[in-house]
Amino acid sequence: MNDLHLTNSLTNKKEIFNPINPEKVSLYACGPTVYDNPHVGNARALVVFDLLFRILVELYGKKKVMYVRNITDIDDKIIQASKDKKINISDLTDEITKNFHKDCETLFCLKPSKEPKATDHVEEMIKMTEKLINKKAAYESGGHVYFSVASFKNYGKLSNKNPGDLKAGARVEVSKLKKDPLDFVLWKPSEKSDPGWDSPWGRGRPGWHLECSVMSEKYLGINFDIHGGGLDLIFPHHENEIAQSCVYNETDKFANYWVHNGFVTMNKEKMSKSLGNITTIEDATKKYSGQVVRLSLLSTQYKQPLDWNNELLTEQSKTLDKWYSMYSSEVSEKTPDCFRELLDDMNTPLYISKLHELFQQSQSGNTDKKKEFNKACRLIGLFNETAEKRADYKKSKVKISEAKILSKIKNRDKAKKIGDYKLADEIRDELNKEGIDIKDEKGKTTWNYK
Ligand SMILES: [Zn+2]
Repeated sequence: MNDLHLTNSLTNKKEIFNPINPEKVSLYACGPTVYDNPHVGNARALVVFDLLFRILVELYGKKKVMYVRNITDIDDKIIQASKDKKINISDLTDEITKNFHKDCETLFCLKPSKEPKATDHVEEMIKMTEKLINKKAAYESGGHVYFSVASFKNYGKLSNKNPGDLKAGARVEVSKLKKDPLDFVLWKPSEKSDPGWDSPWGRGRPGWHLECSVMSEKYLGINFDIHGGGLDLIFPHHENEIAQSCVYNETDKFANYWVHNGFVTMNKEKMSKSLGNITTIEDATKKYSGQVVRLSLLSTQYKQPLDWNNELLTEQSKTLDKWYSMYSSEVSEKTPDCFRELLDDMNTPLYISKLHELFQQSQSGNTDKKKEFNKACRLIGLFNETAEKRADYKKSKVKISEAKILSKIKNRDKAKKIGDYKLADEIRDELNKEGIDIKDEKGKTTWNYK
């Protein structure tokens, strides 16, 4: 497979990716709403689209790929969080944006080509809203401006829903101000104490969907290649982005390929705030390194649900330990053969199994394979730190001294000699808890940082 294939949510089919212009390949991914620290579910989208960016760069060259990921820094959730936490909005969004960038670095995500903030583009959002009103595709009602869904004939195509069913299901916000329950807000009034901008409809702020339409068009143009996001964004967010952009530009073309990543569950339960089972990226990377978290997120193909649990992380941690024994700064220049697995709708599980094969071949002394293995690891954002740095990192997580570890192992040996296996097991468990792995081999005990 030499061409990139992606499952396009618009058609529900795996399609060959043909960029509009191979000299300027374009990717837009919905970025974070900066009201709370990102969790593992957010991290999945982050890493999946970082991987897609890396694949495009490998295929077309860094200068020819434009990756835009926005920051939503004005939203009802942000206003609510600032009230709850009693801090002002810009302090909150600055802090969460800073944490988000730190998490991106920890997960070894490349910087996008552009990272526009919604609040820097309000003027353009007002203009788009005005033009939609002029086209009779939007209307003002009680200080709000709504997009009229009836003005767009293809509404529901992406999410495969028909507007009639949607109304019956009414998973949409019902308001007396709307002409139709499916109509969605482009502009809403702001309370005096809330952030707001002057507009022809009074002081207010933009709706979330509008933000992405404006920023994607500004940096990538009316018609661009790939739009990505989590599965939960298909409806209504992406459906609404398509409707307002297509009507605004009088075209039926917006993004040509829509790529959506699957959900993350926690021990088979949906990860959600109300269930209280959310793990932030910061928490996850306290226990395991960013590379382990990254590899865990890539261990399942991006469209499939991913279950987050300790076994997964422990397993990936062991894999990276093993792979690091073949770490080298010498990296082959050519694209590894296994890249074809990534071209096949980012089949990361198969790619990872090919990495295991390459590892074995390099272990048997084949230096070309070792270079290829090192290149293949870097391609998916692994091996970003040297073997020494990784060892230091693991050591830094452990509080127990080397002398103490050795004395515990000695006591364990003694216990085993007198047949007190219960005590021996207890000592092993204690060491495990401290972040130390021990191995019994040929009558000798060796230890390592977990
Ligand atoms: Zn968006």
